[in-house]
Amino acid sequence: MAMRQPIESGVPDNKQYLHPTLLKNYGNWKYHDRPRPGVLHHVSHSGDEVWSVRAGTQRQMDIYTIRKLCDIADTYAEGHVRFTIRSNIEFMVSDPNKVAPLIAALGENGFPVGGTGNSVSMIAHTQGWLHCDIPGTDASGAVKALMDELHEEFIHEDMPNRVHLSTSCCEINCGGQADIAIIVQHTRPPKINHDLVANVCERPAVVARCPVAAIRPALVNGKPSLEVDEKKCICCGACYPPCPPMQINDPEHSKLAIWVGGKNSNARGKPTFMKMVMSGLPNNPPRWPEVSAVVKKILQTYKEDARSWERVSDWVERIGWPRFFEKCDLPFTKYLIDDWRGSRANLNASTHIRF
Ligand code: SF4
Ligand code: SF4
Repeated sequence: MAMRQPIESGVPDNKQYLHPTLLKNYGNWKYHDRPRPGVLHHVSHSGDEVWSVRAGTQRQMDIYTIRKLCDIADTYAEGHVRFTIRSNIEFMVSDPNKVAPLIAALGENGFPVGGTGNSVSMIAHTQGWLHCDIPGTDASGAVKALMDELHEEFIHEDMPNRVHLSTSCCEINCGGQADIAIIVQHTRPPKINHDLVANVCERPAVVARCPVAAIRPALVNGKPSLEVDEKKCICCGACYPPCPPMQINDPEHSKLAIWVGGKNSNARGKPTFMKMVMSGLPNNPPRWPEVSAVVKKILQTYKEDARSWERVSDWVERIGWPRFFEKCDLPFTKYLIDDWRGSRANLNASTHIRF
């Protein structure tokens, strides 16, 4: 009888996938530099060298695109690729003469080479409507529309410092803390389809998931269902994944907000949380022009006004938030003020938080 195979779980050992030169020199690198935007050059203590060519992708890829990228890796690189956390693909070569033909092949196939150093990186983005766990909505489309307009900033390194962008449906995980983030903003409580709740939802799980205890079991038309206390509801969308009949997405009332000034790195300054600077932008497919216009205005102002090596948060810290709003021509509205009024009552209503 065949031996029972171990259950596959956790992160696989990455060494089996590494380019042979990377494997050979693992942990033994001397320095790296960037011969041009989109190319990293690593030199090992052993004298080995590797050039990594970074290109932008659309993140959510069809099988044909993956095959095309693999063919480029086999023909022009050395058969190994890896993906960065911002969904760029990197091809590794150990011969400098392979770099230019590889860049040309990527360009011919529509993959821009860039995203290194002081460039605008590819946008880290949520799975959106594919399977975002909380308030899934459009993400790839807004990312594509914006990056089409920021193409030049991706392939050049002209920013004061690196700029990380993100798009997400909540403001925590997928986007992390970005210099500029586009975040979904629902503004109305979920609409409940009572005919479906009893068949689809585990009602206790839904009730437990609401962070402000706004959901109660209810009997509607003789069937078990749920009801929402709309005064308490903060429109977070957490009830939607365990109970799709609680539809939170709305063509008119689901908006997009822009947040600014987050960073995960602790280089030159502490990590920072981003803050909302624009709310209620229309979720306007297919090109989301209002969102792109605000992001581009902030980027342009940062590019002109920040000193060398200032991240967006360092720049805002130096000039102050009032000047930031003035310089970027953004209105400061009541929707940007988080005074936590009522939070004591709301949070204490949850079973999890007491103060
Ligand atoms: S971390 Fe946030 S944006 Fe990402 S999938 Fe989960 S809820 Fe959606
Ligand atoms: S989980 Fe969020 S959206 Fe759903 S009822 Fe509670 S506060 Fe409202």
